[in-house]
Amino acid sequence: MPELPEVQTIVNDLQQIVGDHIAGFVSLWPKAIKNNSVKKFATSISGRKILGIERIGKNIAIALAGGNIILIHLKMTGQLVLDNKNADTKYARHIFYLKRNGVLEFRDIRKFGTLEIIDDKKLTAIREDRGVDPFSKDFTLKKFSALLDKQKNKAIKVVLMDQQAVAGIGNIYASEILFDAKILPARVANSLSAKEVKTLHQSIKKILRKAVFLRGTSSSDYRDVQGEKGQFQDYLKVYQRAGKKCLKCATIVEKLIIRQRSTFYCPHCKH
Ligand SMILES: [Zn+2]
Repeated sequence: MPELPEVQTIVNDLQQIVGDHIAGFVSLWPKAIKNNSVKKFATSISGRKILGIERIGKNIAIALAGGNIILIHLKMTGQLVLDNKNADTKYARHIFYLKRNGVLEFRDIRKFGTLEIIDDKKLTAIREDRGVDPFSKDFTLKKFSALLDKQKNKAIKVVLMDQQAVAGIGNIYASEILFDAKILPARVANSLSAKEVKTLHQSIKKILRKAVFLRGTSSSDYRDVQGEKGQFQDYLKVYQRAGKKCLKCATIVEKLIIRQRSTFYCPHCKH
């Protein structure tokens, strides 16, 4: 599933279509459109100018002239690909026709991705419902520390992946961040020392920034707006490396299931 770095890369790349107009919209998988028929969805966005595109947690919000906002969640396998030549791809589920930039395809192998039209009020509610964004000014050590103190008896990995606690982190980056911070994923969140919390706070920002710089992780279906892979999969230290030697100390990387999600860690490189 695309996490903060992947969605941020997509949002950064999509800035090139800000100022363009949506000429039309076609959906081949209407079930993905929440609270609206395809016809109504298409009517409410057609002819509208794109005013801005931003990331909210793992969501993409496209603000249109006139007040409507398109909220997109890529879920498991969603991709947004700008294609000037060929819109007829196998997994294209929804197609936005743009006045100047060709087509924007919402490709989705597993079809869990969603689209919705919302207003400003709903956008604010969604924003407020999300936990603190690691790239925002609000993500201070003090706030992060207070947040961990509140999480009684929860594994630190579960807290990192809780979108209502910290927004944007999923399974890949939770393992990588905890490895970087040398903290065992199963550790109880409010048992971390002040020093560990400080290290973890820094590792979150460091790993996510590095992943954005490398345009995300394409170990699975993620592709950028050009349909290209990211590069962070070449820099993964523990994720999906169970049974292989730790790149730091050569101990065998282990796998553990926490809340039904595979979790990867080096038993030697942790506290
Ligand atoms: Zn190690």
